[in-house]
Amino acid sequence: MFEKIYSPVQKLELNPFNNLFVKRDDLIDPYISGNKWRKLKYILLSAQKEHKSHLITFGGAYSNHLVSTAAAASRCGLKSTAFVRGEPVKNEMLMLCSLFGMKLIFIDRESYKNKKHLFEKYFGDDDQAFFIDEGGASLEATIGCAEIIDELPEHYDHIFCAAGTGTTAAGLLKGIQNQNLKTKLHIIPVLKGGSFIRDEIERYTPLSKHLHLHLDYHFGGYAKTTSELIEFIKLFTAKTGLLIDPVYTAKMFYSIIDLQKQGVIGSNDKILAIHTGGLLGMLGMKDKF
Ligand SMILES: *Cc1c(COP(=O)(O)O)cnc(C)c1O
Repeated sequence: MFEKIYSPVQKLELNPFNNLFVKRDDLIDPYISGNKWRKLKYILLSAQKEHKSHLITFGGAYSNHLVSTAAAASRCGLKSTAFVRGEPVKNEMLMLCSLFGMKLIFIDRESYKNKKHLFEKYFGDDDQAFFIDEGGASLEATIGCAEIIDELPEHYDHIFCAAGTGTTAAGLLKGIQNQNLKTKLHIIPVLKGGSFIRDEIERYTPLSKHLHLHLDYHFGGYAKTTSELIEFIKLFTAKTGLLIDPVYTAKMFYSIIDLQKQGVIGSNDKILAIHTGGLLGMLGMKDKF
């Protein structure tokens, strides 16, 4: 399932940009979406190599990673179980996880912090169990994400990407370094206090001058939003026909427009935005629209 891939680069007609493009990783798959597909690719290959048939992972109740893991597991004929942070709840995302056959174990926030311990406690004697960290954060994930750079048809002055854990950012940086590109990599942490992303990236690849972190586009923090961001999403989607989500990609596109206004990037610069997918996550904020 990881051989074929459809992720074209499309030009986006948006004033005042003359060279704004989008890498449509959101089109790879509706459920194993965007960067989660990239991250799972080599993780699942590792699991298969080790002959493990049961994926164990972790996430919040609206996690794109959980839906992706559940969908990928079912398509590969694997079992999946997730530790879900917090009180037992029902929602659209967890419904999809269940449909794909994922078993859900709700776990209080304190116990959730020690993931290795949970894995040992529940699955220590299941020799089929395979640990996948929250969000798929791993070296394998960075290798999958670096492939985004290998697929690009031409050179860009700037590449933009949203960051949660920073794993995708690390992969992109690795890809840029491997190919010796001059591209500037602009990373938009969607959490408040996102400077930790720098250390996270450095766990996987040396920091280099390519990397530009923009810490002021979190709109209050992870999964937080403002009426300004919601209005931005409505205008942007109506104008471009491209769906973006309030947790990740909207914050990235907002930053591109804002940094152009500030003169940090030029309207004639060649810019590539990575659409990391995750549109189902929008359902967690449906009351805001
Ligand atoms: C998970 C996710 C991210 C963040 O990826 P990290 O590798 O954790 O930084 C970005 N965009 C979307 C749509 C996501 O679902």
